[in-house]
Amino acid sequence: MTRRRFIADTWTPTTATLTGDQAVHLARVLRAAPGQIYDIVANGFLHRAEITQVTAGSNGENQIHFLLHEELSADASLPLHLLLAVFKFDHMEWAIEKATELGIARITPILARRTEKHLAQSALKRAERWRRIALEASKQSRRIDIPEIADPIPLKQALEQEKSPTRILLSETEQTTTLTAALESSQLSTNHQEIFDPGTNDRVPHPSQPHRDGWDVNSSPTRITYAIAIGPEGGWAPEEISLFIQHAWQPVTLGPRILRAETAAIAAIAIASTHLI
Ligand code: SAM
Repeated sequence: MTRRRFIADTWTPTTATLTGDQAVHLARVLRAAPGQIYDIVANGFLHRAEITQVTAGSNGENQIHFLLHEELSADASLPLHLLLAVFKFDHMEWAIEKATELGIARITPILARRTEKHLAQSALKRAERWRRIALEASKQSRRIDIPEIADPIPLKQALEQEKSPTRILLSETEQTTTLTAALESSQLSTNHQEIFDPGTNDRVPHPSQPHRDGWDVNSSPTRITYAIAIGPEGGWAPEEISLFIQHAWQPVTLGPRILRAETAAIAAIAIASTHLI
């Protein structure tokens, strides 16, 4: 039986509380009452939970209080970091929403050489909006975590700080190596778990990360082991491709057609997800 799932706004190790829209929906539409059982995501973990109390807060808004029962197994996000060159904001928002639905663990917006100037200038201010989009898409797709949406950074910096052992550059000029071939060969040559998670594979959320709207940022247990980079509408500049190669990124093709950046992003995540589950 699939139970309704909500995301706690606040929690302790054994209790959780819903406030705001979720509480109103639960109280008025689903007629919340003590004893009812729901699935609650608290601190990045999914629990079966029982309503203990339905109250009205000081401002008259509903609050629903839960006792957390056993933890339930839940799908982790894909161990995938998307480096997404900044492009037209409406298309970019679509890409962030869909990438979140598909299970991406982290997105870093990249200020590429051919990112339009006015977009590059206002990208930093957009980051909060992108995070809200990721949050809503996470709720909608019943994820237990939300992907981290990093602040936009220049490509050079992103390449210098990238830690994923498998780094894949989506390049419209590559003609031979396909994304599928690159993923298959990386899986043959690398045991990603051993590199990044030799010990416990624990599910402890990152305590240093701030939380917003009741969600721990990047609270997923997923360790990111793959990075995929998508260029802007004008494509990667030749010197950027050289920089990728210097940092051991593997250029791959998605086929002979030139895709819009957002199409390339979603196609790449979908293909990668069939290899990573
Ligand atoms: N302006 C470029 C051109 O006309 O050749 C096209 C850039 S494309 C709109 C934006 C990004 O999507 C590319 O930089 C690349 O990362 C990705 N992309 C699009 N089509 C691709 C393909 N067939 N194979 C690999 N990557 C592709």
